Amino acid sequence: MSKRDYYEVLGVDKGADAESIKKAYRKMAIKYHPDKNPNDPSAEEKFKEAAEAYEVLSNPEKRSAYDRFGHQGMNGGGYGGGSMNMEDIFSQFGDIFGGGGFDGFFSNSRGGRTRRGSNLRIKLKLSLQEIATGVEKKIKVKRLVPAKGVTYKNCTSCGGTGQIRKVVNTMLGQMVSATTCPTCNGAGQMMDYRPPGVDSTGLEQLEEVISIKIPAGVSEGMQLSMSGKGNSGPGGAVPGDLIIVIEEVEDDKLKRDGLNIIYDLYISFSDAALGTSVEVPTVEGPVRLKIDGGTQAGKVLRLKGKGIREVNGYGKGDQLVYVNVWTPTQLSREETEILERLRHSANFQPNPGKAEKGFFERMKDIFS
Ligand SMILES: [Zn+2]
Repeated sequence: MSKRDYYEVLGVDKGADAESIKKAYRKMAIKYHPDKNPNDPSAEEKFKEAAEAYEVLSNPEKRSAYDRFGHQGMNGGGYGGGSMNMEDIFSQFGDIFGGGGFDGFFSNSRGGRTRRGSNLRIKLKLSLQEIATGVEKKIKVKRLVPAKGVTYKNCTSCGGTGQIRKVVNTMLGQMVSATTCPTCNGAGQMMDYRPPGVDSTGLEQLEEVISIKIPAGVSEGMQLSMSGKGNSGPGGAVPGDLIIVIEEVEDDKLKRDGLNIIYDLYISFSDAALGTSVEVPTVEGPVRLKIDGGTQAGKVLRLKGKGIREVNGYGKGDQLVYVNVWTPTQLSREETEILERLRHSANFQPNPGKAEKGFFERMKDIFS
């Protein structure tokens, strides 16, 4: 897609002065601001287009390159005429709308967004045990913070006043016009020494260890937000938030089903017939479970309260133990002889009426 002419975008003519360019952009920014046009992609496009045009036309150096070479002139020379992201655009507003920033224009705007750093988003893997009990985690986060060692000096274009004064001779005598300095955007200061790794807004990326308490009961995809632990913004802006996205690591023995835990227990035929006591893993550690003599395959035993706690709630799930009876697949001669003797014994004949639910009944449970 070919780009529209920047002057055309802002609706000004080629000879327009800095003040009328700013005025034109201010009008566009208010008209197409996302807060005023929610869910309108075409407004957002126009908003971005205007910001890009202003970015170039408000800077004398970029503007003259654009005047001479057009959009072509923006690609080289480090001008980066490419698309701006919303973060850049909002950070530009400080000098368009004066010290109060953009927010004064939209009293119900999303709370000082223009003066806020961006959010950081990280994924955090948790085991089922950690989810069941809750856990405190130390995580390494790379975030933008105000850099140390940056020194500032008075702006070389305006001498620190933030304004460019021009003396104009008119028929009425000399008049002084003052415009905001385009080099420092009115701040009066510019970076004198920028240490390596520090960006043009005076921020650098540092690794920080952050401690976070995860409550019991979180689940896959859930997001926890730590206010102010995201990236810092330029010029002492309030940092964004750190958003932690929960990832559940699958356990090889215990399966989660909402608040319940499901466990497949395998016991021998002899244990099922004679009864026994087995050790069963739970999210809170192993527990002993009594298996009555005559336990049928398919029986579900319930360990009350051994499931997952409701996050920010009072409920707690159970652990459901599904009893599977293992049929031996290899038999010695002696074992075969014993079983042959039992084969026709009356107690060994199946009694469906006393068995656990069969396939058909279970399907009805699942699909009803
Ligand atoms: Zn200046």
